[in-house]
This record gives sequence, C-alpha cells and structure tokens, in this order.
Amino acid sequence: MKTNHWRELVAEWRSLLTDGIHWRDDLKAALTVACIALPMALAIALASDVPPAVGLITAIVASIACAVFGGTQVGISGPAAAMAILIAEVVEKHGLTGLAIVGLGCGLLQFLSGTFGLGSIARFIPFPVVAGFTAGIGAIIFIGQLPRALGLPSPDESHVLSVIVHLREMLQETHPATLALTLGTLSIAFVLPVYFPKWPAALVAVIIPTLVVVGLDVHADTLGTLTHAWPQLQQLPDRGAWLELLEATLVAYALASFETLMSASAIDKLSKTSRTNFDQELVGQGLSNIVVALVGGMPATSVIARSSLNIHAGAKTRFAAIAHGLILLAVVVLGAPLIARIPVAVVVGILLSIALRMFHPREFLGFWERSRMDALAYGLTFLTIVFVDLVAGVQAGCVAALVIAILRMGQIRTQLKVFPESAILELKGSLNSLAAAQMDRARTELSDDALKQGLIIDLAKVTSIDASGASHLIELIKSLRERQKKVAVRGINNETRSALHAFDLNGDLAQSLALTESEVADILHADERLLFGALRYRREVKPRYQELFNRLAEGQKPHTLFIACSDSRIDPNLITTSDPGELFFVRNVGNIIPRCGADALPAEGAAIEFAVGILEVREIIVCGHSGCGAIKEVLAGNIFSDQKAAEFPHVAKWLADVRSLKDELPANVSIQQAAELNVLNQIEKLKTYPVVQEKLRQGKIRIHPWYFDIAHGELYEWDFVKGLFVPVGTATRPGTAERISAGIQYQIP
Ligand code: ZN
Repeated sequence: MKTNHWRELVAEWRSLLTDGIHWRDDLKAALTVACIALPMALAIALASDVPPAVGLITAIVASIACAVFGGTQVGISGPAAAMAILIAEVVEKHGLTGLAIVGLGCGLLQFLSGTFGLGSIARFIPFPVVAGFTAGIGAIIFIGQLPRALGLPSPDESHVLSVIVHLREMLQETHPATLALTLGTLSIAFVLPVYFPKWPAALVAVIIPTLVVVGLDVHADTLGTLTHAWPQLQQLPDRGAWLELLEATLVAYALASFETLMSASAIDKLSKTSRTNFDQELVGQGLSNIVVALVGGMPATSVIARSSLNIHAGAKTRFAAIAHGLILLAVVVLGAPLIARIPVAVVVGILLSIALRMFHPREFLGFWERSRMDALAYGLTFLTIVFVDLVAGVQAGCVAALVIAILRMGQIRTQLKVFPESAILELKGSLNSLAAAQMDRARTELSDDALKQGLIIDLAKVTSIDASGASHLIELIKSLRERQKKVAVRGINNETRSALHAFDLNGDLAQSLALTESEVADILHADERLLFGALRYRREVKPRYQELFNRLAEGQKPHTLFIACSDSRIDPNLITTSDPGELFFVRNVGNIIPRCGADALPAEGAAIEFAVGILEVREIIVCGHSGCGAIKEVLAGNIFSDQKAAEFPHVAKWLADVRSLKDELPANVSIQQAAELNVLNQIEKLKTYPVVQEKLRQGKIRIHPWYFDIAHGELYEWDFVKGLFVPVGTATRPGTAERISAGIQYQIP
C-alpha cells in the first residue's frame, strides 16, 4: 500500500491552502474550459445514449472529485468521447442501473490499481494501438450520428454496417432544416478557430444556431427539460446480465485508466510545472468514478483536450478544475431552461466535429511511412473496432501490442557511422531470422564511398545470434569482400562467439573476427596501425580528455615515479587505471636502476632526481614482471659470452648490472624468483641516491616493490611483514618508509 502518495497529496493541499490559490489565473482558466466543457458534456451524453443531465452531472462531479484526490494539478476530468460507445452499449442492454454498476466496478478497480502501484502499466500500450482505437471510436461516433444529422429516425441496430444500410434506405427522407442546422454548427466549430483562435468555438457553435432557431421559430427537436434520475441500485440485473456487466466493467476500467494516463502524460508535457503521480491519479479517478456512479453519472476520464485548454488558459493549481465544476453547476442550475431549448441537431453538429477530430488519416500515413508494423497495428485496431465491436477492438489492439512488443524484442537495429579512419556498422538487439530486411537495408546503405577505409561491424550490443542471424551476417561479409572491401567484426562476447563459430562453415567470418583494437587495425589498415589508432584517439578518446589536457598544459604534478621494464606487455596506466599527468616513468630493459654515480651517462639517475627532487612525487613504484626477457638472459648467461657480447654489446653491458644479482642467488632460483628479487635489489640501489635518502628520512616518500603476472593479468605488491609478494591490496602495510630504510629481506621459499 502506498500511503506516501496520500501524505504527499495532503501536504500539497496544505501548502495550496496556506500559500494561497492563484485566484485570477485559475478562475480565468475555469471559465474558458467551462465554455467548452458544457457543449462537450451534452454531445458526449448524446453519443453515449444517456440523457443530457447525465453528461452534465459527470462533468461537474468528476472534475471536482479528481481535482481533490487526483495526482495531477491542472488536469480536467469529465465525460470522454473514447468511452461513449462502450457506455451506449451498456445503456442499451442494461439501462442506467447497469451503467451505475459498471461505473462503480470501474472506479473500484482504478482505486485498487492506483493503491497497489500499477499506475504506469497503461504506458506499455503502444501508440499505434491507441491512435487506431481513438480513430475507430471517432469513425463509429461519426457514422452513428449521421441518421440524427439528416433528421432520420434512429436505426434498429447501432452497429456501423446496420447504420449504413439504414442510411441508404432512408436517404430520400432527409430533413433539410435539421441537416442545415447540423452543418451550420459543424462549420462554425471548424471555421471559427481558424479566424478567432481565442474564442470558445464549441460554445459559439451552439449559441448561434440555437438563436437562429429560436429567432426564426423553426421547428426542431430540442434537448428538453433537464431531468435527473438517481440510479436504482435495488433493481439489480438478473444473473445472466452480470457476466456481460463484468466484461463491460473490465473494458471500461482499461479504457478509462488508459485515457486518463495518456492525458496525464500529455499534461506533463504541456505544463512546465505539472509532475503527475500516476498512481495517485488512478486513485483519484477511481474515487471520482465511484462518486459519479452513485449520483447517476457515467464513467469519466481525464480528458486531454479540456486539460490542455486549461493549461493554455493559464491554470496554476487544482482550484481551476474545481472552479470549472462549480461554474458548470451554476450554469446548469440557473440556465436549465436555456439548455432545454438547444436543438438536438446542434449538439449532433458538435459531436460530429469531435468525432472528426479523433480521426486523422495523416496519422495512419505517418505510421505507414515510418513502420509497416505500426501501420498494421493501427489498421487492425481501427477496423476491428469499427466493423466488429469495441471489445473485439480492444482485444485486437492488445494482441497487436503484444505482437509488436515481441517483434521489437526480436528486432535488430543497425546504425552506420562513417569516420575518416573507418566506417562502423553497429548492430543492436537480437540477430535472428527477422533481421533479414534490416540487414538488406544496411547493405544498400554501405556505399563504396562510405567503405573507402573499410568497415567495422560492431556486435558488442548484440544480445543473441541464431542460425539465420549468423547466415545474414556472413552473407553481408561475403558480399562486401566480393566488392573488395575490408571488413573487421569486433565486440563478440561469449554468447555470440559460439553461435558464430558454429555457423561459419567456410571460415568466411573467421578471417574478419578481431579480438583487439590492434586486430581491427591489422585487418583494415595493416600498414598504418598507429595512424588508424591516432585517428580513433582523436575522435573517440580526445574529447573526454580535452579538459584534462588543457589543465596539464600548465604543468605536471605526478604523484608517482613508476619504474618498469620496457616490455611491451606492461602498461602501467592500464593496470593502475591512471590518466595522463599521474605517473612519471622510467622504463628500461629489466627495470634496472644503476647504483648512484655508477653510470657515465646517468639517464635513470636524472629521471629519479627530477621526479623526487623537482616534481616531488610521493610514491615510487618499481615494477617487475613475469617472463622478463632480461632476467631470462641473465639466468641463461649466454648474453655474456664473448660472441653474444660482441654482437649485442649494449645489452650485455646493461645487463651486467643485473648479473651481480645472480651471484647473490642460490643455484636453483626460478625466473619468477629472480624477477622478484631483481625488483627488491633495484630498491636497494634506489636508496643510494641522496635525494631519495633525504625524502625517506623526512618520511615524504614511500617505495613499493610490485610484480605483474602477465598470464593472469594480476598485480602483486611486496608485503613487508610477511616478506613475500601478495595480491595488490592485501599486504600488511605499517611504516613502509622505515622498513625500506631498514632494508628488505627476501626469503627464497
Ligand atoms: Zn622485462
């Protein structure tokens, strides 16, 4: 149970009542909306086959109740055209008592679903289904009202086909005055907003024809005296009817909730301040529908057109909707005799204008252009509603929604980006049999011009690949290769790898698969690997670092001197996730530090003095690694043979420094132990530099022996207490500076 929604609502009302209501703005909006809501309520009552009073009561009570309890501040609730056909069916079969039962059930379901937090469920219904539904209702209302518009008697059945047959039979008996009245109203309702957008078109479209009828004393059927009957809930329907009522209740619940949540989303988009609480809005609509049913109204929803009018007219708070309800009440009480004289044909004209606005042929064309699937869902919903019935239409829409969701889930999306160093075709989603059309489209997009520098097919966002998906991909690669284009496939994960290998019978794919960026570059630009990389850096990486580089241009302040082997497999920035500007490097073969003063051209000594003395780094790391070539050479001893020393004099001379290490080792030391010992030995030599000694004495520097295991990609640090290398982050680490000063003891296990 979400009691916090109620707490929020109470808090909102408290602040509204203390901080004051925007009287002027809210009243102006209330008046504007009431001018439209009055003819709307009459028209929708007509479409719903209920007396005019039922429409008016609904407009009054629903707007006030929803404003008090609902989850949106500036929405307007009331009778909705979308509900009219359903209501007319219920009234036809079960009378106003049946309608009250449906209204109560619908309200209760809405209240419960809002209370249990199902407020956003209706947002999963796809837009084409909603649009097809709305257009279908519009078409039914329009065709259903044609007999009235022509002044003909009502057909026996309200189904669209029956109405059309009825119209064909009765067309000669068209009543010209009624038709003129309807067309006049319809024209005003449509033309007025074009020239006078600020006028309440619907109200004017009611008033002018009514005045003409009264003034010229034309005979026309009028709405007549407003009579209201309380629902007779004691006259319960018989057992057979309950099942039909239950079905109608569920449809009413689905429709009303959906219309409401759609409207609430629209309100949030239109209003800068409104943030709808969807659950609370359903709770409010539910309570409102219960009250409305008890006073003899019909199920209501939040309505988009009146809500947006409210927002455009400047409504600021919930008070606008309440005032709108009160104004309607006053008009009904004081103006009942005037309302009674409104001709039915005029209300029909208003209704036709509402129905026409629900029907947008251009919308269907838009769906058709963008996605055939959407257009199909729209058409299916529309046709089923119009030619079968409302319930079947809602069901068809739901099935269409489900099918769309499943197809979308199984759909691949492709995106082609062309860059100076390569084009990238990014695939997203599931690569399966449904992907054929999309892959064909992608193939036509791949022009020779776009593929000048080769194509990378990026599968990183592909969730699964099946047999047909793999064959589509292989077909694409083969066709590109036939066009002499270079193709690299990257971003393969564990799920997609096995599928691709299984279906790649001729190895077409294998020669395009790239595990690393360098393999991508090898396939596309074998001769210009770093140029390719530099171009990608400029496009993908540089933007992220631009600000850092701007700052670093003023000077460097690295925190660490990192001493490592020249080995290509050691990437200090990668294994420490550090950025430019953080590490000051000394790299050489075997990560060796010559003893202070021992080197005639002291490159390492200069770097150490610069880092420790001038840049004042706080940490020094000496990082050895597994499989170090320098250590291997020293252990084997070949490099010091006369022949090798003559061939590679610099290597021999350089490594002679390490050789002293070997002399101190037990005979059976392994390459790993030698590499670890080498690290510790370099630290002893590091301490021969006065600048290091001084900082150690002041406690301003810490030295860390590290070791990188290439095969496992794992980093180890020296544990000064245990006297061995342990996984980084697990060492016991008190007082490293003192221990460094005291000297490191390495025990050969
Ligand atoms: Zn090495």
